[in-house]
Amino acid sequence: MERTFVAIKPDGVQRKLVGEIIGRFEAKGFTLVGLKQMMVPKELAEKHYEALNDKPFFNGLIEFITSGPVVAMVWEGDGVVASARKLIGATNPLASEPGTIRGDFAVNVGRNVIHGSDALETAQREIALWFSEEQLSDWTPTMMPWIH
Ligand code: ADP
Ligand code: MG
Repeated sequence: MERTFVAIKPDGVQRKLVGEIIGRFEAKGFTLVGLKQMMVPKELAEKHYEALNDKPFFNGLIEFITSGPVVAMVWEGDGVVASARKLIGATNPLASEPGTIRGDFAVNVGRNVIHGSDALETAQREIALWFSEEQLSDWTPTMMPWIH
């Protein structure tokens, strides 16, 4: 079953959007298989955003991500990687559609509330980076398979 990595950034936690955001993923029909709130060590932040380390905003991004608690999650379901990106919305919240998380709750690209993996391989890499196997629940809901 497909899985993706999602993280509520320090601005989302500070603004008390955690319940709202988890609710959107649950309402859509995805299954939460991993969840933890944590202060992000600088090395983890730098590894997570490794591909962006030549960008002018990289240092500010690392400073921001390590500035307060982050809620890290793994969500599971059919097509969850691409669907999570749709629920999240465009990187620049001024371009994100209303109805998306960034479109509804953010205005600044440097404070865009939430992260979601951008592809299947990225998701696998990020899940392994943030979670150990024991922290993920490998379970099948005991409900009828047609209930999503
Ligand atoms: P996304 O989070 O949508 O996958 P990227 O991977 O391109 O976007 O960038 C990672 C994060 O870096 C963004 O979510 C945003 O917080 C930050 N970022 C991207 N572009 C800028 C920018 N021009 N200025 C400041 N921060 C940026
Ligand atoms: Mg990205």
